[in-house]
Amino acid sequence: MNANEPGQPAVHDSSARAVTLDLQVPSSALAIGAHPDDVEFGCGATLAKWAAHGCVVHHLVCTDGSKGTWDPTADTARLAGQRRHEQREAARRLSGGNTGTVTFLGYVDGELDSGLEQRRRVAEVIRTVQPDVVLGHDPWKRYRIHPDHRHAGLLACEGVVAARDPHFFADLGIAHHRPAALLLWEADEVHHVEDVSGFVDVKVDALHAHESQFESTMRAIDPEQMAAFDDRIRSRLAGHGSRYGVGAAEVFARIDDL
Ligand SMILES: [Zn+2]
Repeated sequence: MNANEPGQPAVHDSSARAVTLDLQVPSSALAIGAHPDDVEFGCGATLAKWAAHGCVVHHLVCTDGSKGTWDPTADTARLAGQRRHEQREAARRLSGGNTGTVTFLGYVDGELDSGLEQRRRVAEVIRTVQPDVVLGHDPWKRYRIHPDHRHAGLLACEGVVAARDPHFFADLGIAHHRPAALLLWEADEVHHVEDVSGFVDVKVDALHAHESQFESTMRAIDPEQMAAFDDRIRSRLAGHGSRYGVGAAEVFARIDDL
């Protein structure tokens, strides 16, 4: 049964759903993040694993990341340029020769919306790169307060719907495309686990490409703090892993009846 079919009763016992382990490695994937660095935090090790097995990894970043600093006197246009550079470097570190496109929608950091215009642009990217799997923020994560993460998550979901159906945005002139699966990180409810044993170091290395975020997001401005940051990432993935019987894991909500 298609879980997205209209008119279905509510599911009262979500724990009844079995957690799945490891998708078949897709031939291409598109990860959609609100800001430069969100993709690496959310699914970097999974992308690194897939890329190592031949998957072409595309990135789509919705905002310009121009508010990602604690310095009130920062040149935010310059910061946005630096963050584009950092994102391209992070993508290269994750997937090497299997790096696909890195697209920036360029909406102002902190002001992302999920209206028709934004949905159209996300659908255009999905139709253009034709990913087997789309990954994004879980927009239904409870008590989330950053609006960009919520809107970027909605755009990933609603962008898939618009991309798959031929009469949505037909004027784009690009054939519709239906991905096989949608994985949402920061999952409010975990349905799927990717075993990322052996790929945690790649994720950490890619996160280190975001040098502009060392002070604010990562709170790592000296080697000791950087080591503590690395430990936090490693222990988080190890914690997920031990819960699901693998060495290290990233976890997702999974929608695959697209
Ligand atoms: Zn973010």
